[in-house]
Amino acid sequence: MMIKTKLNPQIVVNYFNELYPKAKCALNYENGFQLVIAVMLSAQAKDGRVNQVDAILFDKYQSIVALANASVEDVRTILKPLGLAKRKAKNVIAIANKFLSSNLKEVPNDENFLLSLPGIGLKAKNVILIELFDAQVFPVDTHVYRVSYNLGLRSKKDDPYKSELKLEKYFKDYRYKLLHHQMISFGRNICKAISPRCEICKLKAYCRHFLK
Ligand code: SF4
Repeated sequence: MMIKTKLNPQIVVNYFNELYPKAKCALNYENGFQLVIAVMLSAQAKDGRVNQVDAILFDKYQSIVALANASVEDVRTILKPLGLAKRKAKNVIAIANKFLSSNLKEVPNDENFLLSLPGIGLKAKNVILIELFDAQVFPVDTHVYRVSYNLGLRSKKDDPYKSELKLEKYFKDYRYKLLHHQMISFGRNICKAISPRCEICKLKAYCRHFLK
């Protein structure tokens, strides 16, 4: 099969809308604070596992104050299934304390505040901003990184940050939030790292992986 020269973003958008019209964040949360904690905990851990652990954590500690006053050991025990449990437990408690000391009950739409939280880096900050505030940012996780390469939306040498800039430019005429969740769903379910389901994929005519 011949590769088509350029993949029009509208083709991607149409296909993703057909596949995942209601794609949404895989992390469960009831408020912004819980999302911040979930995003921090999801570093090097699967979202499903984070959801299981969060259900226990937020059942035991039902307020920011309760978490701020928790013991590292108690929180660490709950977080054990996620790995890096001690560091993450310290981060959870420190984040709760930061909200308390800043007199915040809601997550502010403030990237500097988010970046000041332990365990929240550039990607995590953008995940929070796009989810809570519909920000026009396109955080690149492992799925977005792989899919964007296969579809020729970034080059091989691009790191996640450069890839994000390219995706933001490529999709500049669209709202990113739904598209971002759709691309992650596509990476999880069809354009998988191992055994992608190319036989059913409608983008194969544009795909580096399929055509190589
Ligand atoms: S053809 Fe296969 S590798 Fe390429 S985008 Fe589709 S699922 Fe992914």
